[in-house]
Amino acid sequence: MSVRVRFAPSPTGYLHVGGLRTALYNYLFAKKHGGVFILRIEDTDRNRFVDGALESLIRSLENLGLHHDEGPYLDGDTIVERGDHGPYIQSKRLDMYRHYADELLANGHAYHCFCTSERLEKLRADQTALKQAPRYDKQCLSLSKDEVKRRIEAGEPYVIRLDVAFERGEIVFHDLVRGQVKIHAKDIDDQVLMKSDGFPTYHLANVVDDHLMEISHVIRGEEWLPSTPKHILLYEAFGWEQPEFAHLPLLLNPDKSKLSKRQGDVAVEDYLRKGYLKEALINFVALLGWNPGQGSTQEVFSLEELTFAFDINHVHKAGAVFDLRKLDWLDRKSTRLNSSHEWISRMPSSA
Ligand code: GLU
Repeated sequence: MSVRVRFAPSPTGYLHVGGLRTALYNYLFAKKHGGVFILRIEDTDRNRFVDGALESLIRSLENLGLHHDEGPYLDGDTIVERGDHGPYIQSKRLDMYRHYADELLANGHAYHCFCTSERLEKLRADQTALKQAPRYDKQCLSLSKDEVKRRIEAGEPYVIRLDVAFERGEIVFHDLVRGQVKIHAKDIDDQVLMKSDGFPTYHLANVVDDHLMEISHVIRGEEWLPSTPKHILLYEAFGWEQPEFAHLPLLLNPDKSKLSKRQGDVAVEDYLRKGYLKEALINFVALLGWNPGQGSTQEVFSLEELTFAFDINHVHKAGAVFDLRKLDWLDRKSTRLNSSHEWISRMPSSA
């Protein structure tokens, strides 16, 4: 099987250190297996749109040396795309998502929902009061085809939801980091696939793109683990083969709380601006969730050495503590290595 992996950020304005870790592990996995590393931009949430974010993201990855094989690039200040699975920017793929949503409506795996936000809020409040997990009650699933048609023609706003059948029972999948993961279909909400603004949700766009871009391994942060069963149901509804999944451990503050902006900076650009060497930053981020294993105590790695040493089987489940003292230590090591390289390259060749 040929390896094709992707880094699929939403361009929110800066590259998060967690995003850099995901990009790096995807890059290393692709290089290790002679595969293809793709950059895909997930920009269908128009509320989160930030001007110039895409350009700065591409520049950050390039500056760090994580060159992608397919996806958007900068040609001067213009964004161009390379690769034959494009477009790689989701807002340019809206027709495809509509097409696949229609396919699910036609084969009975999805349905139109006209419920207002007031009704959904009330439903949620009632369920919470009864200590039930909030979920949609499938009211619109029983609407007749004629009624759906009439309401659409009357201009009523609607969303398209996935029909999660309780009878599907337990969804079981193997995660390359976490091993076997199980969740019962009754604990999965009828996920919105298409929003009333005509844009797909993350779930639909992500699965359609991973399929069409022939992604072999989905390597992403653990915060996406609860989405994976929904994605598996979508692969089943389309009759598509699933990729392999690997969910990378959470990044934690030294007090073991989830890494937040409050306790430290999370923007990669800020570290580089403060003068940290990119080699040190990459080395530091590589060790957030991975170790070389087999009794190796090596801690200082170049990007090339990481490409050689990286093994997805040595990514661990436990949260990875983001300890800036380690970054400082690696930065001092890299500075020394860099200056000795400069010194060597300044030596006359006959010496
Ligand atoms: N757009 C998601 C993010 O911002 C991608 C998650 C995934 O890789 O599936 O991280």
